[in-house]
Amino acid sequence: VHRPHEVTDFQEDIHVVSTADGEPIGVIAIHSTALGPAAGGCRFWHYERRADLTADAIRLARGMSYKNALADLPLGGGKAVLQRPAGSFDRAAMFRAFGNAVESLGGAYITAEDVGTSVEDMAAVRERTRFVAGLRAQPGKSGGDPSPWTARGVFESMRAASRFALGSDLDGLTVAVQGTGSVGAALCRMLRAAGARLVIADVDRRRVDALVAELGARAVGIDDILSADADILAPCALGGVLNGRTIPTLKARLICGAANNQLETEADGEALAARGIVYAPDYVVNAGGIINVSAEYLGEAPEAVERRIAEIAPRLIAILDSAATEQVPANTVADTRARRIIARGRRA
Ligand code: NAD
Repeated sequence: VHRPHEVTDFQEDIHVVSTADGEPIGVIAIHSTALGPAAGGCRFWHYERRADLTADAIRLARGMSYKNALADLPLGGGKAVLQRPAGSFDRAAMFRAFGNAVESLGGAYITAEDVGTSVEDMAAVRERTRFVAGLRAQPGKSGGDPSPWTARGVFESMRAASRFALGSDLDGLTVAVQGTGSVGAALCRMLRAAGARLVIADVDRRRVDALVAELGARAVGIDDILSADADILAPCALGGVLNGRTIPTLKARLICGAANNQLETEADGEALAARGIVYAPDYVVNAGGIINVSAEYLGEAPEAVERRIAEIAPRLIAILDSAATEQVPANTVADTRARRIIARGRRA
């Protein structure tokens, strides 16, 4: 029996990242190298239990495999997650230790920024390994902070999906943005320029106040943003926000945002479809960042980044179109396509 899900969906490897003294500080999860070296950023976050950190790395690594495959990049998928210590710590030393771990994999895994890490952290990683991207951009070359590119892809996707699903341009629509960090804030600026009205929330009140002043956005509490009165919801904070508790309360008819792993479970995609809410699969629309990271690593010119990012919205519409025609949730259509591409790569 051919079960593509089982064939392609195994985790290739999990490596423990340790300090020079042998103290474990995180893991590197390699989901697949079928299409090329496993690429995906490094998350720096606090987890209550080590098992939660590992589970997050595994889920995120799988998402990277699917994202890179669908974005047509010559890359597999992986992710690193490091535990953010509670007290004071030597940040550069920690990222150098992480760099040693990346180097020990000999290029099977390529790292970059993710939530909680910065260009400076990647510079510390670079002291120990060349298998890192997301470093400061050189003039005329690809590279640097991936967030503006991610925001571009999400914005173009939202504009196309709004026409497809709501029959309307963004002008005059209301978009609720959860999380106004690097991607969320850049997205808000593009949305405002396109004439959308903004409802925003962030746990960091200063970020919200700044965008209220700059863009005339309306602020709501973090518990009210998902169910805000809006046409479109853009989750741009953390994962798992679309679940059995939140889906019944949603008012938006389209969901399109940057956060990774927005669906708590695959079944939540069915629940959205059953409510008639169109869901733009997260890893399809948020590929702009890894496209820029990969161009930096592969030495591609900025024009290649532009071209690959321009392909994101049409790819999304093809997926939404199949989902509508075949009456299958959009996340299932995307997962199936990604698994097929990875399986082809593995056979090749
Ligand atoms: P960021 O850390 O700059 O911003 C995240 C923001 O979310 C922060 O301002 C934080 O305060 C806020 N936040 C956290 N919990 C919240 C809550 N419960 N309610 C409201 N706000 C909350 O991160 P980012 O780089 O903007 O990334 C945002 C999301 O997009 C993440 O899930 C990330 O994995 C994903 N993503 C980012 C990129 C990229 O290029 N940066 C690429 C692909 C995916």
